[in-house]
Amino acid sequence: MNKKAILQSFSKVYSNRYRVYPSSVRSEGNNFFFMVRDDKRKYLVVIGSLSLCEKFEGDPLVDLKVNGNKLTMRIAYINHHNLVLLRRIFPHLSPSTCSARTSFGTGDRLGIATPAHVQAFECKDIFPILAQQSVRETSRTGRDWQGVLDDAIWGCFEAGYQGPFGADADHVKRIEDLRGAVDCGYTMFTVDPSDFVRDDVFKLSEEKKDKLYRSLSERKELERLYLGKSYLIAGERLEFDEKSLREVALIYLEALKHTVKCYKFLDDYKRGDFDFEVSVDETSTPTSPLAHVFIVQELRRNKVDFQSLALRFIGEWQKGIDYIGDVEEFVRELSLHVAITRMFGGYKLSLHSGSDKFLIYPIFAQKTDSFFHIKTAGTSYLEAIKVIARKNPSLYREIHHFALKNFEKDRASYYVTTDLSRIPEVDEIPDDRLEDLFKKQDSRQLIHITYGSVLSAKDGEGNFLFRDRIYKTLFENEDEHYREVSAHIKRHLELLEI
Ligand code: ZN
Repeated sequence: MNKKAILQSFSKVYSNRYRVYPSSVRSEGNNFFFMVRDDKRKYLVVIGSLSLCEKFEGDPLVDLKVNGNKLTMRIAYINHHNLVLLRRIFPHLSPSTCSARTSFGTGDRLGIATPAHVQAFECKDIFPILAQQSVRETSRTGRDWQGVLDDAIWGCFEAGYQGPFGADADHVKRIEDLRGAVDCGYTMFTVDPSDFVRDDVFKLSEEKKDKLYRSLSERKELERLYLGKSYLIAGERLEFDEKSLREVALIYLEALKHTVKCYKFLDDYKRGDFDFEVSVDETSTPTSPLAHVFIVQELRRNKVDFQSLALRFIGEWQKGIDYIGDVEEFVRELSLHVAITRMFGGYKLSLHSGSDKFLIYPIFAQKTDSFFHIKTAGTSYLEAIKVIARKNPSLYREIHHFALKNFEKDRASYYVTTDLSRIPEVDEIPDDRLEDLFKKQDSRQLIHITYGSVLSAKDGEGNFLFRDRIYKTLFENEDEHYREVSAHIKRHLELLEI
């Protein structure tokens, strides 16, 4: 029995009822597995022994003869139960840790883009983090840790991807959320202690700062460790004097304590290795080189084994558009941060809000000598909605109007400088020009930021206003959707090749 004979027998039974995903076909002993779709949904086909097929949930069992062999077949559901069985048979479908490898995260808000992402990574020496959603994203899209991971794994199976990949529970703020991600089998945890970062310290009077600082129970210890210490970094001398130590301690100490707590929880609760990322990127002020030194030393002192550190770099890192700021100044500052990572060693610099930062990518790869982690989140979603604009213009128009109405509310949790008045009136744009909106910053951000409202909006009877139609349109135009997302992520990855 071979794959060809199996597929022939399958199509004899069903003729044209299903379309097979040829790259998904896998065998294990005399059992065969592959993914198919009809015009509504996807299924897992299991062909082999009766005892195996019985374990899977799906349509009634069917007898199948292949080259004289009597086999059993089941059209099985794409669900968690079946995925657990499949992962036991094919261990490469489970996520693994990335450690020191160069890595890139492809957030997938809709949960249907993994086959396209996998394609983009082909022949690239970059470790893909295929399941990567933040707590904010999962709550806004009505998904959960398990669903995000399962979607990515089904995507790997569909695409026939057999390489390693990571699963990142991104921007986690609470231990309870970490617990949930561990339970689901995530391999990477990004702790975001920004609720404890005191961004407002700069606004306080010297007196007030001093009073706060003196009230720190760790003050003496910090002074013993840091005061007067200086570091020669890329030809620049950085020093902890009283003022600078006071400042970094006030801004970051509580955040670091929370991070340590989270790490200790993971170290205790999760059996086996994991990747740990600390992210202080979602703050209003950039992380200074001296703060970087302080953060790393405090983490090390508390025995936090972290693989990557996301800093808030200078300039503007707005969602879904390119870098805004002085590139030369960014390069100068980045060189200092890279020199600091080299001085301490053992962790990667992580770049968040990496969607569409094309100006920065080649520099970032070169300066870090490809020792980095980069995250993209919303850019694959934008590509999906672009396909909606192309294939279902009337749906796009509805989404666009709805997004305009919700923009002010939704922008609250993002830093963007979107000017809605610069977006042309959508009803005056002909259908075949709607896509052009995705070339302009303001309209990109309009769609990028309102994903939660768009995907969760319901009518008076509790039916989704757009969600089902978005998925339906993308399902009907799957090849095109995959092509667009893959090309867009590839564009990102190619700029990182040095
Ligand atoms: Zn981030």
